Amino acid sequence: MDCIFCKIAKQEIPTKLIYEDDLVVAFNDIHPKAPHHILIIPRQHIATLNDLDNPNLGGHLLMVAKKLAAEIGIADAGYRLIINCNRNGGQEVFHLHLHLLGGRQLR
Ligand code: 5GP
Ligand code: ZN
Repeated sequence: MDCIFCKIAKQEIPTKLIYEDDLVVAFNDIHPKAPHHILIIPRQHIATLNDLDNPNLGGHLLMVAKKLAAEIGIADAGYRLIINCNRNGGQEVFHLHLHLLGGRQLR
């Protein structure tokens, strides 16, 4: 399957991972929209949020996001989590991912 995020998760496209465990990996967005812009993705290929059927995995994505926010020092100031779904949601990469944005006042 020709999925860029699967290739990043498998390190077939070498990308510095900020975090990894058995279920998810996290790395910096290539076009950051804030001083901190991290993508958190499941290792498993899941195309969109509509295709997620594992509540444990969904919860884990959130727990990793808030842990990373604390680790990079933006938890108290605040941050934003975004999941874009399908065309109207603005999804461009069809492998489920959670955006973690912070480090500036988001409008
Ligand atoms: P979406 O619009 O699908 O929610 O967001 C996809 C995100 O993936 C975009 O913010 C885009 O900059 C990022 N992105 C696309 N291709 C790559 C890539 O090859 N490497 C990294 N690190 N980010 C990517
Ligand atoms: Zn994939």
